Amino acid sequence: MKKLVSIVVPVYNEQENVIRLNDALQRVFEPLPYNFNVIFVDDGSSDATLDNLKRLSLVYDNIRFISFSRNFGHQAALKAGLDMADGDCVISMDGDMQHPPALIPLLIEKWEAGYEVVYTIRKEDPTQPYMKRKTSNLFYSLMNRVSDIKIEKGAADFRLLDRVVVNVLRNMQENDLFFRGLVKWTGYKQLGIEYVPEQRSSGESKYTYKKMIGLAVRGFTSFSTRPLYAATYLGFAFALLSSLYVPYVIFSLVFEHPISGWASIIVTIAFFGGVQLMILGIIGLYLGKLFSQSKQRPVYLVRESNVMKDGSLLREN
Ligand code: UDP
Ligand code: MG
Repeated sequence: MKKLVSIVVPVYNEQENVIRLNDALQRVFEPLPYNFNVIFVDDGSSDATLDNLKRLSLVYDNIRFISFSRNFGHQAALKAGLDMADGDCVISMDGDMQHPPALIPLLIEKWEAGYEVVYTIRKEDPTQPYMKRKTSNLFYSLMNRVSDIKIEKGAADFRLLDRVVVNVLRNMQENDLFFRGLVKWTGYKQLGIEYVPEQRSSGESKYTYKKMIGLAVRGFTSFSTRPLYAATYLGFAFALLSSLYVPYVIFSLVFEHPISGWASIIVTIAFFGGVQLMILGIIGLYLGKLFSQSKQRPVYLVRESNVMKDGSLLREN
């Protein structure tokens, strides 16, 4: 029996790319001794993505799709894909051809060699926008400093997961998802492979700065409480520093030495006002996470699909 490889592809308004990616995948798998299926997760697209997926699924019997009721975000789409995937291993990749399908045979080879997670590391690509590269680097260095897990610079959501790891991720109750961290957190035998990203084959990036900042905050708050400790230490440090001021004030009162300084008071109030708001904000982020987790809402809602929950195909006769 050939082993089954599932490919999970979140797509948001990628009408041309789904067709291109499907072509590329069918070609890559042709010489390989594996069965495969592709699970496209349509994350609430407003263009012809879903129509194209339906058409593809009629032509190819290994094409599956799930369509969300609205845009739930890339990480939620990845979760949906993992929930539905039935392969012995699952490869997740972007739908815009930036993750080269030609790398898939190597990922599978390493999996067969015994690695339960084969992740990829994007080599710095000078053709990518300057700001995108810089903000991405900044994110990974901050993340590695504040959190307890180490994530390589340029680690993307292009990776192969063994069935064992997929089952772990499937059963996670977390709803504020950050897969790059979660996969690292699971441990298991992991291997990183470098690759040079391709140009986006059509359309533009769906990761707006707003979405990127959201993902970064998620990453920080999901894997560390260190910002809370930092806030506490900062408080202690300022309390200690200000107590050094007390002898000076007493001395001035006793010897009726006039203390002037409107400017210094205003600066101090403004500064500490800022520090307090910042710390409140940090606490608020964690509280907000707790709040959204406690509501236990589903991570995504499916409107339409040709797959049933158990992975079998729904086919019209
Ligand atoms: N994506 C998604 N939902 C979103 C944003 C993006 O499913 O809300 C998909 C998108 O269609 C693509 C992948 O996630 O397949 C990566 O997004 P994109 O290529 O826009 O990000 P970038 O490569 O610019 O970081
Ligand atoms: Mg992209």
